[in-house]
Amino acid sequence: MKIGIIGLGLIGGSLGFDLRDCGHTVYGVSRKESTCQRAIERGLVDEANMNFESLKTVDIVFICTPINKIYSTVKNIINDLSPNTIITDVGSVKTPIVEQCEQLWDNFVGGHPMAGTAEQGIEAGQKNLFKNAPYVITPTEKTPKNSIKILENLAQSLNSTVYICSPEEHDQAVAWISHLPVMISASLIASCLGEIDRNVLILAQQFASSGFKDTSRVGGGNPQLGVMMAEYNQKALLAALQAYRQQLEQVIEKIEEKQWQSLERLLTKTQAERSRFIH
Ligand code: NAP
Repeated sequence: MKIGIIGLGLIGGSLGFDLRDCGHTVYGVSRKESTCQRAIERGLVDEANMNFESLKTVDIVFICTPINKIYSTVKNIINDLSPNTIITDVGSVKTPIVEQCEQLWDNFVGGHPMAGTAEQGIEAGQKNLFKNAPYVITPTEKTPKNSIKILENLAQSLNSTVYICSPEEHDQAVAWISHLPVMISASLIASCLGEIDRNVLILAQQFASSGFKDTSRVGGGNPQLGVMMAEYNQKALLAALQAYRQQLEQVIEKIEEKQWQSLERLLTKTQAERSRFIH
């Protein structure tokens, strides 16, 4: 297949690597000449351009820009595409994107490859990023069935596990397991920084080991992406944060009132249930 990728950062670059390895021809689009050159040097794409000309003949275009640029990017490219071209995106939030983009282009299929690192930009793309990771496809009643199948096949060829659900279900589910953890993890780091005894703070920074590394990782990621998760998935994220606050209050109460058995019951339950989320 001929595949276009707009935005050659972590996700776009990683897709380029793997789709080329699967034998597809990848046409990249970036805003900068230096990024185009680097994308070719790194082997992320077969060709890279600063305009949308190269997309005229592609079968599918992956929009891999920041969330707030997906709609405007779709708007800017549609005059250059052949009518059968599938447009898909990789944005971490789906409802507002799918609602707007399917109005612009009938053959739009929302998608979200659920893999990442803390890196961003042209040097961040890596091979096999999507291996064994979920790839969520979020069609609506209007989405052409054949286009869903084509995206599903491509995602499977990346060795991802494909899930299909509505954009709204996607946003509620990722609020729990992706967007809430970013806010909790960031709040953890911010709380530690609130330690007023400088010696204790320095000791904490020196002592931080695997537990802190695990729990702080997503709070140390791309700040702009975190803000966009909150802005574009505000309702579901707030519901999850409020539930989390209630849970935290219950934990505080158990500790204040020395309800050690109750605390143990909670920790026993979470110990047993964690494996349902971590495969
Ligand atoms: P990234 O590394 O910063 O890459 C985004 C790329 O978009 C940039 O390299 C840039 O490419 C292009 N871009 C930036 N601003 C733009 C603008 N104003 N107009 C047009 N293009 C612009 O970010 P990313 O992590 O790959 O995220 C890209 C998308 O993937 C986002 O929608 C995000 O929600 C989604 N996503 C991210 C993760 C994650 O963990 N990071 C996981 C799953 C999905 P050029 O400089 O080449 O133009």
